[in-house]
Amino acid sequence: MPTIQVSVVTPDGKVYDGDVDMVSVRTIEGELGILPKHIPLVAPLTVGAVRLKKGSTVEKVAVSGGFVEVRPDQVTILAEAAELPTGIDVDRAREAKERAQKRIDSARADEIDFKRAELALKRATNRLNVAGK
Ligand code: ATP
Repeated sequence: MPTIQVSVVTPDGKVYDGDVDMVSVRTIEGELGILPKHIPLVAPLTVGAVRLKKGSTVEKVAVSGGFVEVRPDQVTILAEAAELPTGIDVDRAREAKERAQKRIDSARADEIDFKRAELALKRATNRLNVAGK
């Protein structure tokens, strides 16, 4: 069965490199499932989990925005930040979530603070989901 070579890269370095059967990413337009021989494309990513399917196992990577570049046999995810479940500090994400929720409750009058807090909340929730918490 054909596979796709996937790399997840951040400004801090490579987070994942491997061959998988299918990869799905969250673009700003919705979930995109990529199988081998997919048409080439570049799409912006939102905060979400990258799912890497290999046989009957699915690995997840928490991604906080960036871009996906698809070529027929290769997918490159250029992420602002990305973590494997084992690389997620759950206490840190819980604290970030709590902080963001407090800011959301007190920042309704300030549109910019509200949006920033909302994004921080999404990043923290995504990390907790990927870490299975
Ligand atoms: P925090 O408020 O805890 O810093 P954040 O969402 O603002 O969270 P980011 O700006 O997305 O953090 O990420 C900054 C760096 O810290 C990135 O390298 C990211 O991988 C890392 N990082 C952030 N939160 C966690 C976490 N809970 N576990 C592991 N690494 C994290």
